[in-house]
Amino acid sequence: MQTDQLRAQLDTLLTEARKNEEKLLRFGRLEQQLMETRALTQLVTIVLRDFRQNFDLDEVRLLLLDETGEWARVLGETHLSALHDMGLVLVEDESQLSTLYQRPLRPALVAYQTDMHGDLFVLSHLASVALLPLERQGNLIGGLHLGSRDAHRFKASNGTYFLERLSAFLVMCLENSLYFDKLEQFGLTDALTQVNNRRYFDARLKEAVNHALRHQHPLAAIMFDLDHFKQVNDQWGHQVGDTVLQQVAQVIQTVLRGSDSFARYGGEEFVALLPGADSEVASEIAQRILHAIASHKFCVCSNEPLSLTVSIGVAGIALHNVGADEVSIGKQLIKDADSALYRAKENGRNCVVVQP
Ligand code: GH3
Ligand code: MG
Ligand code: MG
Repeated sequence: MQTDQLRAQLDTLLTEARKNEEKLLRFGRLEQQLMETRALTQLVTIVLRDFRQNFDLDEVRLLLLDETGEWARVLGETHLSALHDMGLVLVEDESQLSTLYQRPLRPALVAYQTDMHGDLFVLSHLASVALLPLERQGNLIGGLHLGSRDAHRFKASNGTYFLERLSAFLVMCLENSLYFDKLEQFGLTDALTQVNNRRYFDARLKEAVNHALRHQHPLAAIMFDLDHFKQVNDQWGHQVGDTVLQQVAQVIQTVLRGSDSFARYGGEEFVALLPGADSEVASEIAQRILHAIASHKFCVCSNEPLSLTVSIGVAGIALHNVGADEVSIGKQLIKDADSALYRAKENGRNCVVVQP
């Protein structure tokens, strides 16, 4: 072989090696970025926006199979439409996905054809596309679709190592962020009643006080303690007690507004935070809840309907609290509502007391 020919071949190999090295580095950076992202919305944004920019693609679309509506719930309504505009598609039916990929599930790198790919992409002037199935243990969970105006970008003869690795990595990251979200939810939700727990409430209280002071809006808290609840357990058993607690949480929530925060504060105690309400308004709402509980027939298995009452304490924050920080104002609010509740018990239970 001529020396020139040999040199040319070596140059080509070297160029290829450099290109691969660069690709590897870019993938490494992207993997790092994906790995550090726990919030699902952010992860999806990286896939849809940063992939397109970093890999010089013309269009990126991410399909996620969402048979139970879990992805939609975790992503949240407020983010969904923006993500949809960026290229996220939630697919409700597995059959809509399985027809897109051939088995065994592997990336397909093909020329763009309007009849086959027109529905998968928004841009119509693409020349080549990569369709990557996203699978977990042989089950399709979605797909990542990459589109390019360059006809040579995705060809059947190209190696798919990087794309397969990317798909597997993406599946892992998507699952992780779903898992973290669930953990967070469990951490802030009371397992028995499925309402917020005290940890959530304490965090919310600080935010609500802060907001109230900044905008000089009133803020009130309502504390609830079920009357003689020990007798319910003693008479009907702990399981019936549990069911009653679940129903109490539901009854209270039917009276509260969506903007109010509600939590199980402990055993048979609940608490609500009412932004925008002073103690007078909160007291009217508390009266409504008092009557709703007293008139509710709690259904507990085959037993006869059971009646129950609640004692309620109400307090509001002083808006001209000079010098006090939001945490101590929040603590004082709960302390005041608690003192009012104590007096409601002293007054004979089944009543509302407002802390002056
Ligand atoms: P009072 O009117 O003074 O509030 O009387 P009470 O019996 O409600 O008050 P006490 O604090 O003496 O008892 C609270 C009871 O609530 C005792 C406890 O067993 C019960 N309780 C607390 N958490 C749970 C729970 O998760 N499930 C059930 N079934 N009972 C609970
Ligand atoms: Mg109690
Ligand atoms: Mg009680």
